[in-house]
Amino acid sequence: MTMIRDNLQRVHARIAAACKTAGRGADEVMLLAVSKTFGPEAVREAHAAGQRAFGENYIQEAVDKIGALRDLPLEWHCIGPIQSNKTRLVAAHFDWAHTVDRLKIAQRLSEQRPAGLPPLQVCIQVNIDGGAAKSGVAPEDALALARDVARLPRLQLRGLMAIPEPAPDFVAQKNLHARTRALFDQIREAGVALDTLSLGMTADLEAAIAAGSTLVRVGTAIFGGRPAAAP
Ligand SMILES: *Cc1c(COP(=O)(O)O)cnc(C)c1O
Repeated sequence: MTMIRDNLQRVHARIAAACKTAGRGADEVMLLAVSKTFGPEAVREAHAAGQRAFGENYIQEAVDKIGALRDLPLEWHCIGPIQSNKTRLVAAHFDWAHTVDRLKIAQRLSEQRPAGLPPLQVCIQVNIDGGAAKSGVAPEDALALARDVARLPRLQLRGLMAIPEPAPDFVAQKNLHARTRALFDQIREAGVALDTLSLGMTADLEAAIAAGSTLVRVGTAIFGGRPAAAP
């Protein structure tokens, strides 16, 4: 049962090495452990090894898992698509949502965020490489959406998130991530406060950190492979 602990150590070492190469401090990049498709016991094991923040894609699966782990002081991040009929669950159970890509969804999350909880921490998902079927706001609409989301009372806008198409090598990965970084800088220069760039997964976390990621979302390298059907 030390596999998850060992894996976490290896991922921290990868992050530290990537930060060093990029001339950044290792404490500038947060590790989000993506526990989708894995049960509460895997999350417990990761928590015992020092991990505190967990990412989930499927809302109902997440709500069940969060309920089973109430005894632990964990931070839960929604990183899957959010349909209108799921906003109430996201607002009630998560600490963060990385996948806000429409004002309507943001408004519902703000209205439905329970009064006793702190504001929901939000990233805007950007469709940075324009895949037609992909979630995310178009890059040219991101600034306007960021301004609108920043005004919602029960949300705290934190940054941008993107999932670029897999690229064959480090340079290609970094060039894609650099586009999201440029948009992040542009929105900040326009006067919207952002501090989080949610970029990078198991296969491309080094390239994401080189491009300026402040939060990497890592599943496979921590928990192992998932069934092929799961995205
Ligand atoms: C599944 C998933 C991850 C983790 O991917 P790995 O390749 O297993 O590290 C990160 N981000 C999002 C949005 C995901 O859906």
